[in-house]
Amino acid sequence: MPRPDDLGGAGPLGRGPLGRGQLGRGPLDLGPLARAARRSLNGEHPGEVGIALPPLCDHHVHLGLADAGAVRAGGIAAVLDLGWDPAVIARLAATVDVPRIAFAGALLAAPGGYPLGRWGPPTAVHEVAEHGHGHGHGDRLGQGHGDRRAHGPGDGRVHGHDAAGTPADHAVREQAAFGASVIKITLNSDAGPVFGDDVLADVVGAARAAGLPVVAHVEGEDMARRAIEAGIDALAHTPWTERLDDALIAEAVDRGQRWISTLDIHGWGAGGADHDRAVDNLRRFHAAGGVVLYGTDLGNGDLPAGVNPREVAGLVASGLDPAAILSAMTAAWPGGRSRSREAVDAREASVTVDRRDAPAARDPRERHERHEVHEGHEGHDAPEASVAPASPDRRDAPGARGSFDARDDTHDPFDALEALATFVAGPPPAAIEDLGAWLATARILPAEELEPIDR
Ligand SMILES: [Zn+2]
Repeated sequence: MPRPDDLGGAGPLGRGPLGRGQLGRGPLDLGPLARAARRSLNGEHPGEVGIALPPLCDHHVHLGLADAGAVRAGGIAAVLDLGWDPAVIARLAATVDVPRIAFAGALLAAPGGYPLGRWGPPTAVHEVAEHGHGHGHGDRLGQGHGDRRAHGPGDGRVHGHDAAGTPADHAVREQAAFGASVIKITLNSDAGPVFGDDVLADVVGAARAAGLPVVAHVEGEDMARRAIEAGIDALAHTPWTERLDDALIAEAVDRGQRWISTLDIHGWGAGGADHDRAVDNLRRFHAAGGVVLYGTDLGNGDLPAGVNPREVAGLVASGLDPAAILSAMTAAWPGGRSRSREAVDAREASVTVDRRDAPAARDPRERHERHEVHEGHEGHDAPEASVAPASPDRRDAPGARGSFDARDDTHDPFDALEALATFVAGPPPAAIEDLGAWLATARILPAEELEPIDR
């Protein structure tokens, strides 16, 4: 067992005199997020020393396609699910044993657009037509309108009868009603039609109005530029189908766009031209100050369910140092909403509960709108049927904190993680090439089980 003196960084912030890894003489300097820690004498592995980190997040998964039970065992405490049937993912989010799950719900796509017919159930895609032209499965609610494509923009039926507003409003509010934390759209010109500029602007505007960031799948020529110029908040994948020029990358950085890495889906360890293009884009995005988020696209091909050492290796190849990699792996984005709070809102709106004392009481108009949306969706399971009943007192219940099951329906996203920490036994590796394999041994522990080693 290594002694505290052997641990990387040595000091409480992990940046002590032993942080000489880059010179090849000692453990890697992991930066300010890491600190040396010792496990409690009362639990498993009493007194074991290692490194404590904030909870790790995979910012791109598909729990509907993955072994969710293996995610936590692999050291991942939080996930962002980027595309599935919203009713199914809302139910999964309430039942799967991952401490924190945020999700997008259905992918918003142009009619006939990606990923329809490529992967996932049809209900994982919500087709959004141009304003006034009807919209995807919302047509089920069309109440005998017939083919709305026959009607031009400004047709009174869309605005008059359909109180949800534009098809984009409708699509966004549906995901929000199920508890989505982000809205995901697809812009894949290699696999079908894509949004025109108007509907793209509609979708971004509708998401802004709902307080939700927009994540885009971009694939094909010029799609990254369109996403950046439309003000998309994050890219679900590092662009890989084309090299982005430095000016476009600078604009993405200026706009505060986040890029979710997903490098290992290109080759699954074998690399290749797509992998190389993605690494080149990500390297320049990071060097220009762009915010990188660790994400694997778990469920897409042969990927390990926990920390993926090959994804970490891709970040290393993209020029991220250990501190930057840990920042990408522990970022709390998207903050501000949780599926559970959203469901609580929807339920409480429907019973007109006074939320003035609630920690996150919202604009009543917003709740009212959600309620309308909710009423309009007999075709889906109601969101509140998908999640456990609210129990506001649970946050103060003895033993709730520190338990992996201590989900609190009124907390902000990632607050559920406050009581958790990542623990990696032993000292950090000396070589950055070994960082991924070392992190893949990470375990999630109650934070109270770890004692900082201060010297
Ligand atoms: Zn994906």
